[in-house]
Amino acid sequence: MNSPLQTEHLWMPFTANRQFKEKPRLLSKAEGMYYQSSDGRQILDGTAGLWCVNAGHNHPKIVAAIQQQAATMDFAPTFQMGHPLAFEAATKLAEITPTGMDRVFFCNDGSEGVDTALKIALAYHRIRGEAGRFRLIGRERGYHGVGFGGISVGGIAGNRKQFGPGLSGIDHLPHPLDITRNAFSKGLPVHGEELAGILETRLLALHDPTTVAAVIVEPIQGSTGVIIPPKDYLRRLRDICSKHGILLIFDEVITGFGRLGTAFGADYFDVIPDMIICAKGLTNAAVPMGAVVVNTAIYDSFMASSPKDSIELFHGYTYSAHPLACAAAIATLEVYQEEQLFERAAQIAPYFEAAAHQLRDLPHVRDIRNLGLVCGIELSPQAGKTTTRAFDIFEKCFWEKDLLIRTTGDIIALSPPLIINHAQIEQLFSKLAEAIREHA
Ligand code: PLP
Repeated sequence: MNSPLQTEHLWMPFTANRQFKEKPRLLSKAEGMYYQSSDGRQILDGTAGLWCVNAGHNHPKIVAAIQQQAATMDFAPTFQMGHPLAFEAATKLAEITPTGMDRVFFCNDGSEGVDTALKIALAYHRIRGEAGRFRLIGRERGYHGVGFGGISVGGIAGNRKQFGPGLSGIDHLPHPLDITRNAFSKGLPVHGEELAGILETRLLALHDPTTVAAVIVEPIQGSTGVIIPPKDYLRRLRDICSKHGILLIFDEVITGFGRLGTAFGADYFDVIPDMIICAKGLTNAAVPMGAVVVNTAIYDSFMASSPKDSIELFHGYTYSAHPLACAAAIATLEVYQEEQLFERAAQIAPYFEAAAHQLRDLPHVRDIRNLGLVCGIELSPQAGKTTTRAFDIFEKCFWEKDLLIRTTGDIIALSPPLIINHAQIEQLFSKLAEAIREHA
């Protein structure tokens, strides 16, 4: 018999440790659309892990690539050295990024990607003689990981308040969620484009545009409950940034790699930023990896800023372009292409949308919003107990319905692997509907 699990030594991230350890929710295997729980149940994965296993779990091609690389070369430095897979992975990624965005800096996750992008933005202006551009603008309810840069431009009070003031020179746009006008929108909400205009009318008017280095937004705000940008909102942000020489950064850690049925959110919205941050689906989450993709002009500015024998950017990680991560990324990008997974997501998205909106009349459902293979279901909170309703439903789904969902506050967020089929979509929403009904 297995000895009982010792839980006391692990300090779990973003977890109510004491509550969890009383009744641990454990996953021990995975394949395709399913996890297996430690008590042997098949759990339908409604969240692609943490928005990351886009090609489904344990894809044989990705597994083989990692195994082979682990046996060939475990590690190679990428400071003043290189290995071929690093260049191959960058080339493959640049093949699917928007035209003109084709220079890739590797890091290990989304948080590092965010800090990397913010540092590139600040350094870019400085090398071009505009050191006065030091401000960074994020958005309320934005999630940009957990580095000091990310929590500063991020707009989630709970993620910041334990840690002091963070970076200086930061301001935030309002978030564009407006349930009073846009509840139960399918696709892009109709109302709210004008909220992007606040960048110019309030923030730039207050700070002076020549002090602003960059604006960073998630095309869809995922972690704070699936906030979908109103029609033309992102284009308006782009126009204002271009007008004032401000870099626009899309944090595509969630929206990258087919989540919206296109390679990136930038493609879906047809709005091209100056930098894209990606991670998660880059390696199908099999090995940690993140990347910042910048446009050629940014890279060229750095190359032109100093003599050939000097380092252009004083930034990098021991594990930037780790060989295992590169092998996983190359295999993953090939799988996306060979199996046409982005197209598949686009094709099945209307079915997903229709199934999601069938939950509209269930008890306590305040809003349902969706785009591509992302959906948010917002519930009204229990009196005086924010977050408990959704969390109870999450637990019910896991223990009684064999379904993994994700919750944030009183919002249920769904983001299944892109390989989900019609029957599994039906299953996902009918199990969730049962859980919501039974909880009411
Ligand atoms: N940016 C966004 C938009 C995210 O959703 C996340 C994680 O969910 C991050 C950054 C941070 O990524 P990581 O947890 O890999 O550091």
